[in-house]
Parts: sequence; C-alpha cells; structure tokens
Amino acid sequence: MESKAHPSQKFDLPKRISRLGELAYNLWWTWQPDAARLFGQLDYDLWQRLGHNPIRLLNEVGRARLNQAAKDKDYLAAYDALFQKFDAYFSCETWTQKSQPGFKNPVAYFSMEFGLHETLPIYSGGLGVLAGDHLKEASDLGLPLVGVGFMYMQGYFSQRISEDGWQESLNNMLDFSALPVFPVLDEHGERLTVEVEFPDRFVTLGLWKINVGRVTLYLLDSNIEPNSEADRHLTARLYWSDLDRRIMQELVLGVGGVRALRVMGYNPSVWHMNEGHAAFLVLERARELVAGGASFDQALEKVRRQNVFTTHTPVAAGNDEFPLWLIEKHLAAFGAEINITREQLFDVARHHSPQGETFSMGVLALRNSESRNAVSELHGHVSRKMWRFLWNDLEEEDVPIAYVTNGVHTSTWMARRLQNLFANRLGKDWVDHIDEQDLWEKLSDIPDDELWAVRMHLKRKLAFHLRERVRDRWTHGGFHPVQVVSSGVLLNPYALTIGFARRFATYKRANLVFRDVDRLLKIINKPNMPVQIVFAGKAHPADEPGKHLIQEIYRQVKRAEMGARLVFVEDYDMNLARYLVQGVDVWMNTPRRPLEASGTSGMKAAINGVLNFSVLDGWWREAYNGHNGWSIGEDKDYESTDAQDARDAESLYRTLENEIIPMYYERDTKDVAREWVARMKDTMQTVIPQFSTRRMVKEYVEKFYLQASKK
Ligand SMILES: *Cc1c(COP(=O)(O)O)cnc(C)c1O
Repeated sequence: MESKAHPSQKFDLPKRISRLGELAYNLWWTWQPDAARLFGQLDYDLWQRLGHNPIRLLNEVGRARLNQAAKDKDYLAAYDALFQKFDAYFSCETWTQKSQPGFKNPVAYFSMEFGLHETLPIYSGGLGVLAGDHLKEASDLGLPLVGVGFMYMQGYFSQRISEDGWQESLNNMLDFSALPVFPVLDEHGERLTVEVEFPDRFVTLGLWKINVGRVTLYLLDSNIEPNSEADRHLTARLYWSDLDRRIMQELVLGVGGVRALRVMGYNPSVWHMNEGHAAFLVLERARELVAGGASFDQALEKVRRQNVFTTHTPVAAGNDEFPLWLIEKHLAAFGAEINITREQLFDVARHHSPQGETFSMGVLALRNSESRNAVSELHGHVSRKMWRFLWNDLEEEDVPIAYVTNGVHTSTWMARRLQNLFANRLGKDWVDHIDEQDLWEKLSDIPDDELWAVRMHLKRKLAFHLRERVRDRWTHGGFHPVQVVSSGVLLNPYALTIGFARRFATYKRANLVFRDVDRLLKIINKPNMPVQIVFAGKAHPADEPGKHLIQEIYRQVKRAEMGARLVFVEDYDMNLARYLVQGVDVWMNTPRRPLEASGTSGMKAAINGVLNFSVLDGWWREAYNGHNGWSIGEDKDYESTDAQDARDAESLYRTLENEIIPMYYERDTKDVAREWVARMKDTMQTVIPQFSTRRMVKEYVEKFYLQASKK
C-alpha cells in the first residue's frame, strides 16, 4: 500500500542538491560513510549536536549554507558520486536475482526491537542491533523481506550516571516528524489501522513505515485514537516489566503484526521470529486457517512449516513465560473463536517450570517452527540441553535445534578510513565479496604502517569524541568535576586502550578485572606502558543488581589512584558503539561461560582490526585460532562460579602482563608494533568474511528460508 510523502519531507533545498531530502528518508545512508560526510559537511557542529539526524539538519541548516554547498565544486562532486552509487544500488542485479531467482514472496521478520541508527532508539541492545543488521543485509542481497516491530513513543531510555555512580534513566518523547518514518495510509488517505481484541475492548494500531535500502520495516503504534490512555502506552517503551502489559505488548506484536501485513496485501512465504516475543503470530496464523475451515491441529501443522525461530537466550528464566490465568484472561475469546478448550490452548505452550505451570513463549515458538536455531555453536549445545524436555524421546544431540552464528553488517560497523583503504588495496568492489575468504588473503600485502596509521587515527578520534561529549555535559550543568575526569578527558591517545562496553547484567562480569585491585593498579600505571580501560553500558531500569554493578565500577573509576586511566562513558548506544569498536586497541569480554549466546560487539571490533581478549564463549570460541587475539580462561565448564571467576581473573591478568602489554609497546624504528599488526591482519582475515551478516543471511536463506518458502 502506498504511503504518501511525510509532511516534513518537503525540505527547502536548492534544486541541484535536492536529492539530499530523498537520502534522509532512506536508511541506506546510514551504511554509507560517504553519505554521513555529505550531511556533516553542511555544518559539522550542527550535525553533531543533532545526533546525526539528517532530517533535522536539512530543516535547520539554513538556506544560505545550502546555496553555498550547491555551488561548491568539491561538494557537488561528492554529491554526484554518492547518488550514482545510490541509483546503482537500486538498479543492479542482486544476489537473490542471480542465485535464488524463484524467491519471490517475502520473509516476514518479526522482532521486538530493531537497531538501525542512533536517531531511532527502538532497540535496547544486541538483539535489536542484530535485527537491524539482518534487514540491511537482506537489502544488500536483494532478499525480499519485510520487518515488523514497534515504533515506541519514547524509545529506549538515555542513561545518566550520578556523581555517586547511580544510573538514572531519561525517557524522552520522540518527535516522529523528525524521523525517517512515514505513516501508512489507506486508499482514502486516512491512517491505515488494524485492531487486536482484548477481553473487554479492541486496541487500534497505526502503522509506520521505514525504508531500509530495498527493505521495508513496518512499525506498530498504539498511540492513536480511539485507544484509552493506558492502551496508548502499550507501545510507549520496550519491554514492560509487569506481566499484564508485557503480554498485551506481545499480543500486539504477534497478532497485530500478522493483521498489518495482511491488510497491506502481503503474503509472506516465511515467518521468522527473532526471539520468542513474537510467537503469538503462530496463533493468529492458525486462526486464519481455522476461519478457512481447517481444524486447529491441521492449522498448526501448516503454520509450523513456514516458521523459523531464532532463540538468543541461554537461561531458561530469560524466556518470557506467562501464568496460565493471564493467558486465560487475554485469550479466552480467541480460544472460543477457533473452537478449542482452555486446556487445548494451554497445551500449545505448556511448560512445567519450577514456579508451576506456565505458558512459555519459547515453547510456543519451538513447537511450532519447522526451523529452529541458536546463534553460535556452543549456544546450540546449550539450547539442545535446555529444551531437550520438549523432545523426550531424543538424545540431546538429536534435539532439532541447529545454529547459525551471528554476524555484523560490515558497512555499518567498519570505519570509513578502513573502508577507503580496502577500496584502494583490495579493489573498489570489495564490498561485493565480503564473505569470500580469498579476498582477505590479499590483506597480508597491505603495508603494516598503513594499517597502524589507521589504528592511531581511529584512537585519536575516539579520544576527541569523548572530550567533546564531556564538554557538552559540563557546559549544560549538573556534571561534577570528578565526572569530567571519569568520562575520559585525560585519555591518552597513544596508550594501550581496552574497551569494555555491554549491557550490565551480572553474568557479563564487568567487575572481573577488579578482582585483585592492587594487581590492576600495577598494570594500568606501569611507567612507559600505561593501560586504559573504557567502560560503557546500560542496565535495564528494573535490574537492580545491574545498576549496583555500574555503581561498583564507577566508584573504582573515580578513585584518584586509578590516575583517570579507567573511564566510564554514559549512554552506550549505536553511536558510541561505533566510536568504541573502531577506536580502542583491545576489546575485552568476560561473560560467565556459557551464558553469552553469541555476542556481536567483538565482531564489530575485529573487523576494525581491534584485537579481542575474551572468554571462549559464544562467537569468539569459534573465531579464536590462537593468534588472532587472546582468550581469557579455557574452553571448559567449571564446577563452581567462584572457581571459574578466580581462574578467569588470573588468566586475564597474566595475559595482559605477559603478552598484550609487551606486544603493544614493542616498536620498530618507524614506531610500528609489528607483531601487533600481524595479529590485526589475522583477526580481520578470520573475522570479516566469516562473522558478517553476508555469510549469516545467506545461511538463513540456504538452510531455512528456501525450504520454508516451498511449503
Ligand atoms: C553491538 C551492540 C550490542 C551487542 O553487543 P554484545 O556483544 O552482545 O554485548 C549492544 N549494544 C549496542 C549499542 C551495540 O551496538
């Protein structure tokens, strides 16, 4: 269904550069470093201040500057080159057309969150960023795919840390008119809506549409007439903690999402659930078939064949489960409509959990998907063990849960400077061959000092960025002097810098490095060989232990003895993530194995030549080859968590002291750390092709989508 131009799309632009408006409304620009530059060159300060929002930039930069740019030869050359690329992108023959010509009906990809760009805070972390990268890659491959998610009124919170280290959350209302979203309209030009029924009322949902290259993402929004105030808030934020709102939100996604696609005329051939939050789509699709005359069992059987389910949660408690009375409350009418009993309804997803019987979204999705997968090899083992009870007659290794290891979208996460170096050294079309191992063999021929120079450049960029963030916070008041120091103003752009950025959940063990504080002090303050650690990350607002962990770290960071070599940067998001994964030297990850399903931030770091120093969990267990980074601890399970923590901490300190620090400071006459650069090349060669979404999405197509689309 056509959606008309958004009112604010009518920018006042000189004709010669008028297509900037079109660019601002297709997220394709977010994975073109040259596009960001084109916007930034109009007014760099404003571009930064507006948080890289091109719609606001074009509205606020002023006609005089635009007129000037429209006459600037260099600007116009860059502009023309970019739009040539833009047009070629949409007209070239795609991978799907070439190798999967039969693939026509789209994959419907459902996710509670999508991480596409920092201006669209409709993601909280790794799950969302993976979904965003999946969409971008589907676009690059020309794979027919539509995304379904939420347009949150407030988005995920912004994080502030108080002087005492306590996390505060700011929930800002998003201004949709300044975002690249279009309201979806019906043939009369009115908002297209769908309804989801609840026990005593209907909730109406509006739809927004976002262009992600060739792919369309539809976002549901309950903040619309005629909903009650409470219902308008169902889609205000990510992941309500109270179960009643949570189940309603998930019903809106699963049921409302299917109805939205139907109303717009989509007939997906594959239904991919990114985590269990969307699993109610199973019931809605079964309802459609029952309405067409099938029995409930027949309907489920048919629905199952087209479903793909990806699980990301290695702990049972991480899966959403609802008490049966809540299911009864919200789904009684549904059960009556399709003529099944209460018990039949419960049976679809019944789980005998330690808390008693529940309705498990994981069970709902697993039982009713033909293809099921974990997100790394080790996570595959963990998942088969965890869900074995659903296949009691099978041996653990035969439990039908496969794995597709996650990847990252290269163009989104790789630094512009590095992309340019590759264009020069590996060929202009290197992006078309990302997942081909052969291409990356040529990386060995790139002179060491060229790569080292890029590394140094990116680290300086990080240091300057942190300084500007601090300046901004300081200028606006409420920032204590000790916070100025703790946020990175004293960072030395020439010192070995380690990054640690992730959600603050206790299993990630952000405090592992503090197990022996005296030893840490010696490490970071060693004369002539200083070491810095940059921390960042949010805790879920309802996660008290996570917030205490942030506080524990913040208190260490502030101590004068630490010499400001430890830094905590507020408000980890995709923007800060880009600076960190590109700018630090080492990416450290210390999850308590095997609880990290995959992890992706380490891949983002590795593709920028940053060396991973991580527990052999998730993706790193597959990527580590003994010389493309370092491991923390061993590839084994431990009897107790305390023993595991002690062994891992010892391994961490020892490797830092004996290998990482000496290697970083060992320089040749040109001041290049040769051995370090050899590892950088090794990590890029092993990680870029293998841990890309290029490899990942092709694997989904070849293993699951093709088969499902033929059912
Ligand atoms: C990549 C990314 C993540 C996921 O990283 P993990 O490796 O799973 O910790 C989380 N948040 C942001 C902002 C990211 O960019």
